[in-house]
Amino acid sequence: MTSDALKKILEHVRQTAMLQSTMSMLEWDQNTGLPPSAAEYRADQLTLLAGMVHQRRVDPELGHWLDELIATVADQDPSSPPAVIARCMKREFDRCRKLPQRLVEELSYATSIGQQVWVESKLGDDYPRFMPQLTRIVELKRQEADCLASPGQSRYDVMLDSYEEGATTQEIRQIFLRLRESLVPMIQRASERSAKLGPSVLEGRFAIEPQERFSKWVAGQIGFDFQRGRLDQTEHPFCTTLGPHDHRILTRYSQESFSTGLYGVLHEAGHGMYEQGLDPQWYGTPVGSAASLGVHESQSRLWENLVGLAGPFWKWAYPHLLEVFPSEFRDVAPSRLVADLNRVQASLIRIEADEVTYNMHILIRFELEEQLMSQELQVAQLPEAWNDKYRNFLGIAPSDDRTGVLQDVHWSAGLIGYFPTYTLGNIYSAQLYSAADRQLGGLDRQLERGEFRPLLEWLRDKVHRHGQTYLPMELIKRATGEPVDSRYLVDHLSSKCSQDQLLM
Ligand SMILES: [Zn+2]
Repeated sequence: MTSDALKKILEHVRQTAMLQSTMSMLEWDQNTGLPPSAAEYRADQLTLLAGMVHQRRVDPELGHWLDELIATVADQDPSSPPAVIARCMKREFDRCRKLPQRLVEELSYATSIGQQVWVESKLGDDYPRFMPQLTRIVELKRQEADCLASPGQSRYDVMLDSYEEGATTQEIRQIFLRLRESLVPMIQRASERSAKLGPSVLEGRFAIEPQERFSKWVAGQIGFDFQRGRLDQTEHPFCTTLGPHDHRILTRYSQESFSTGLYGVLHEAGHGMYEQGLDPQWYGTPVGSAASLGVHESQSRLWENLVGLAGPFWKWAYPHLLEVFPSEFRDVAPSRLVADLNRVQASLIRIEADEVTYNMHILIRFELEEQLMSQELQVAQLPEAWNDKYRNFLGIAPSDDRTGVLQDVHWSAGLIGYFPTYTLGNIYSAQLYSAADRQLGGLDRQLERGEFRPLLEWLRDKVHRHGQTYLPMELIKRATGEPVDSRYLVDHLSSKCSQDQLLM
């Protein structure tokens, strides 16, 4: 039975979702080859739409309908769609109402220009060029946090909460401290072993076209639906949804490194398959939206790392790889390929980092962001602070800003508080994989045969179809039968770091 208020809300949401997906379309286009001179007009277009979306979200009529809906669902099951819509949308409505229209539009403009300038600054290794834009973005994000903060919440708490509902700075700090304790000795041991491997078989000359063909084929095999999506190239890989049946994934190929493009595709396909597994009839509503960024990342990490880096996966994929690169891999044993894919070595670029050192990159960004938001650190000091932390945490430091502070798109897009969700995603992914392995009775044998359906169906059933019905940590608990626990990630990584596993 649909109440009047719910009907009105659903119609309102449907139109807001159309505006938002139009913005996503413009952003997708911006990242796939917008002419440089078109940047300013594109920023104007996005600013106009962001303002319209914001107006709809704070529409007082919507507020009345939400209040009506809340009254009618009071005695309903809290996991019923109307109750979920009432709870999530009321939270979002109250949040948006605290933000002045001016601030929303200024942020949209600053981040749209910011991303363009970031691309040019990174290409030219020119941090000073990016500095005024980043200074402006950080200032606007501080204002945003101040508008949204509840009593007792720090600015960084506010930022975190907008990506992972309920997560706090204190909680994240604890999780990171524990992880760091386990990771430091693990990295030490595994790096020593990896160093003995000699030159990697993943480096050389790999034509782009066969990489693209192979990556696209693998994405289709694991379950990304190309009838409802496509794969393109960009500078910084991402995934975006342009409608209930339109999911775009983007990657970056490198001629020098075979794994860059493929693992970008596996990662983004994991995101894309999550979006494709949401219920299209609830598109645009909380019931048809991803639970959180951390849960989103758990899906990309699961396919990229837990599946894609494992020996059983390559037992299946290797003969197909040989068809695409017959001369490049002719003399390479599959076990050697897997060993090289799982090398552990401190490196400068987060998105190319191995699974074990990866979380150190996140820890560094988490500390810097927190200091930026609390004004302990100024934008002008960022490159130096960045390099210091790399020296402290990973024992290496970049020789330029292109491979240092300019490497990620996030800050130019105003995404502060986003990085920690990557590590949460890693933690969730290992816990989900372990539960799926137990419940499905041995995933290794299925992966060896290229049977990815059961795993995808399990994720659809336990995670995807629920949308935002449950809070992120509650969803993981229901899926796996126990509270969120980082020990599954630590166990997974330490078993990889043991010699046998490393060599397949
Ligand atoms: Zn991701």
